[in-house]
Amino acid sequence: VFYKIGGTVNTGIKDATEWTTPGLHEVSPGLYRIPLPLPITGLTAVNCYLAAGPEGLVIVDPGWATEESERAIERALAELGHTLDEVLVSLSTHHHGDHYSQAYRWRQVRGTRVLIGHEERHSILEYSRDAAERYPVQVAQLRAEGAADLADRIATAPMSEIEGALMHGAPDGWLHDGDAIALADGTFEVIATPGHTRGHVMLRHTASGALITGDHVLPRITPSIGFEWSPEESPLSSFLASMDRTLALPDGALLPAHGPVLPGTHERVREQIAHHDQRLSDVLGHLHDGAGTAFEVAGAMRWTRRRSALDELPVEHRMIAVGEIRAHLQVLCERGEATVTVVDGQRRYLPA
Ligand SMILES: [Zn+2]
Repeated sequence: VFYKIGGTVNTGIKDATEWTTPGLHEVSPGLYRIPLPLPITGLTAVNCYLAAGPEGLVIVDPGWATEESERAIERALAELGHTLDEVLVSLSTHHHGDHYSQAYRWRQVRGTRVLIGHEERHSILEYSRDAAERYPVQVAQLRAEGAADLADRIATAPMSEIEGALMHGAPDGWLHDGDAIALADGTFEVIATPGHTRGHVMLRHTASGALITGDHVLPRITPSIGFEWSPEESPLSSFLASMDRTLALPDGALLPAHGPVLPGTHERVREQIAHHDQRLSDVLGHLHDGAGTAFEVAGAMRWTRRRSALDELPVEHRMIAVGEIRAHLQVLCERGEATVTVVDGQRRYLPA
């Protein structure tokens, strides 16, 4: 749900909110973008995408399960002479609430078929089981990474209304890499891109070559890494491998979940890789300067485009920030540039 950690780039687009203008925007023949409002701070909208299938409409990432968002979809469908009843399939790039909650709600109340990446099953199924606890995996990780006070604050704070409203049940089926969802013109080809979440997928619109990137590639902000109920062991390794994989694909238009459509994807992928290279070298620099835990490194780093200190961030964002440093430290250890020792459950890092 949180995306604002990390750097930004200047895309040359002057009006930062231009892409959120409501309505139906055709991005290529037969493929439409519908920006939807979000009920969360810091992120104003999510792009939903729509195409015709052989028997009905296929929708991608239909947004947060709110009436306002549903009405925005209905208005956009009406411009094409369609209704919600004609939406037969929802595809979600990943299970975060702005991508999956409306899809899941429609499955419950309308019978719309819902498909999502197979590796999302870990977080989706565990969410259903443990929803009473607040971020149990992250709280345990914070304790191991030298942030016990932060762990206590996260664990004891009441669940926010939005967290409580997240409904994560199982979909009708799981998407696998290489799957093809039939459209009236070509297919949506499923490309597994783990990292932002472990089961994140992109959808390649074969008729145009455009890439619906979900949160894997975003034009202006860098996605959070591994922030989910049941994260994988080294999410940044997966994310960087998924970046390389995206560069190996033909360069298609970037159709992101948040932000404007751009003519190509590769340039922004290279910027995201450069961003993480810089962060990795900054993290290593702080280890050389004597920081020994992920929490100490996170405290030495600067966050968001305002270059805030860690303790200036909202408490949940501090949790995500420490989690990101943990992911960077893991990659440094895998590359042999740092080492970790675990004593009494506490992880301490040293430059190699
Ligand atoms: Zn997300």
